[in-house]
Amino acid sequence: MKRVCSFCGRGEREVPLLITGLNGFICSDCVQQAYRIVKDSLPAAKGDKEDLGFELADLPKPRDIKAYLDQYVIGQDDAKRYLAVSVYNHYKRLAQATTDDGVEIEKSNIIMVGSTGTGKTLLARTIAKLLHVPFTIVDATVFTEAGYVGEDVESILSRLLQVADYDVKAAERGIVFIDEIDKIARKSDNPSITRDVSGEGVQQGLLKLLEGSVVNVPPKGGRKHPDQDYIHVDTRNILFICGGAFDGIERKIAQRMNTHVVGYNSVQNMQRIDKSNLMKYILPQDLKSFGLIPEIIGRLPVLTYLNPLDRDALRRILTEPKNSIVKQQIKLFEMDGIKLSFDDDTLEYIVDKAVEYKLGARGLRSIMETIMMDAMFEIPSKKVKTFKVMLDYAKKQLEKANLSGLKGN
Ligand code: ADP
Repeated sequence: MKRVCSFCGRGEREVPLLITGLNGFICSDCVQQAYRIVKDSLPAAKGDKEDLGFELADLPKPRDIKAYLDQYVIGQDDAKRYLAVSVYNHYKRLAQATTDDGVEIEKSNIIMVGSTGTGKTLLARTIAKLLHVPFTIVDATVFTEAGYVGEDVESILSRLLQVADYDVKAAERGIVFIDEIDKIARKSDNPSITRDVSGEGVQQGLLKLLEGSVVNVPPKGGRKHPDQDYIHVDTRNILFICGGAFDGIERKIAQRMNTHVVGYNSVQNMQRIDKSNLMKYILPQDLKSFGLIPEIIGRLPVLTYLNPLDRDALRRILTEPKNSIVKQQIKLFEMDGIKLSFDDDTLEYIVDKAVEYKLGARGLRSIMETIMMDAMFEIPSKKVKTFKVMLDYAKKQLEKANLSGLKGN
């Protein structure tokens, strides 16, 4: 039998490798092409389940998700429970794509409201890590309405594609965290007459991503060009988690609660209200009063809040999370064979300063870096085996550093 590829007809010398079968031959090029055909067509034949990338049984249950979050994020129990349940439901929803009983579980995108630095991004990032799905963070403030300077909302998906190494199927079940969603709120509750470049138009643009549709995505992000090749991404199974500080929304909440509470019973109810943290009473209509359009709110059905971090929470954040700032420092020194430790008073001092500078959890890190800078510079070249950071040392270091750069407003 003549040794030619039975598929493309090329002879042995014309191909990289010829494989012999019972009644014919196949060249390595044709094997590769056949593999691509099989890969593209088989999942469709077997149904969507193949695309899932995991079995429902392997999916961590809400309690497991919360327990995992607890290792990295301090407090914020309500937000953790809401996130755990919605993420679980989201992936359940993906798993039921094959059953055909007419019950379609709707997508439940999430919105988290809470001051800056309270752990919104950390929560979203930690969940994505647990689930091993592509995850990206985008800042809503960079987007503008099509036709204006800035990025098109579709570039959100370009970033997701980039982290998924352009594996469209993987990106299509990823998680996108849209930060600062409050910054694209309309300036007032009333639809504007003049054009609102960065507000309502962007919200309109976001709508179609949030609800689920096939979107033309410029592979490299930025603005769309007419002569560009687009990648088609279906956003139906992408989970969107939005976060925002919504500064001043407590006033809207208070207003609503005041106007709705009338009568004796309500006065009693009012007394039970925790006035120091009105955020926990947030409802979708408050987001509307703040300036999000109702269509957007409707597509973010899960609304939860984060508590402001008090002194106690900051103290725990310093040492308790699995990769707490203190554990990271200890590890850095350990790599030089030095046993680092902190006096309790030092830790209390760092927390006091973070509270004083009003920098929240982000401040803990910059204060720690400032205190440790000299030690990190000097100690690796010295012959010391242990180093304990005492209060006096910490104070001296922080005072020495230029504090003006650290102070918040
Ligand atoms: P934001 O709410 O503005 O998204 P981040 O999640 O980015 O805040 O938090 C900033 C940093 O502060 C995080 O990287 C983390 O180290 C720390 N942090 C904030 N909140 C918490 C928390 N609840 N538990 C542990 N660390 C926290």
